[in-house]
Amino acid sequence: MDVRKMMGRLYAQTVRYDTGRGGMPEVTPQDIAAAVGMCQHELARETFCWIWWPQSPASTARARELLLRVVLTEFNERYAAVDEARRGLHSLEALAALSNRVPEDLQRNIYRMKAVVRQLHATVWPSKMERYPTIIDAVITEMREPRHCPDCEGRGTADRGFLKHDCLRCAGTGHVGEFNAWRAVQLGVSETRFRSTWLPIYQWVYAKIEELVYIAARDIHSHLAPDEIPA
Ligand SMILES: [Zn+2]
Repeated sequence: MDVRKMMGRLYAQTVRYDTGRGGMPEVTPQDIAAAVGMCQHELARETFCWIWWPQSPASTARARELLLRVVLTEFNERYAAVDEARRGLHSLEALAALSNRVPEDLQRNIYRMKAVVRQLHATVWPSKMERYPTIIDAVITEMREPRHCPDCEGRGTADRGFLKHDCLRCAGTGHVGEFNAWRAVQLGVSETRFRSTWLPIYQWVYAKIEELVYIAARDIHSHLAPDEIPA
């Protein structure tokens, strides 16, 4: 049972919750709401509610703010790593300036450190801060309304002769992420610009939000069906 899908039925009179053990105990909307409330990981819970339970008492503004803070921390850490490497390089260069003939090992370390600075510099994120909330919003929209997989048309399976197997493109989920063209439109940039600059950041945010949703779903599931191992 996918608790994310269950959220859409939260306001139904009763929700049938298949335990997968043959029995079909009924889980009420109150049970689900209580299980969501018991999720201790605030960021995971708020993110989960933002996507799957927009009518919940949790505030979308709060979820957005918490997620933006996570993104900003990563943003700052990337700059801090470059700064630290640069400080190391400057120290080595100052040492080299002390002698007329720079020792070979020191020269080697300077080359090495320059390469580290270049590598780290390539991983810093652009300081167009107005884009980051937009990326978060786009990822949330993409997760809430995933596209049908074009290969299996949403079935999740593909036929090979007489055998059915999980669709390779969507790994059997029946859904795939949006095209980069769609993502570029959300960010208000060209697709070329999106691919060259924003795609790795978008993927980072996507993976982070996916991880948080998984944490919340597993937690909520464990409160609803303590004996069942979540999928
Ligand atoms: Zn598929």
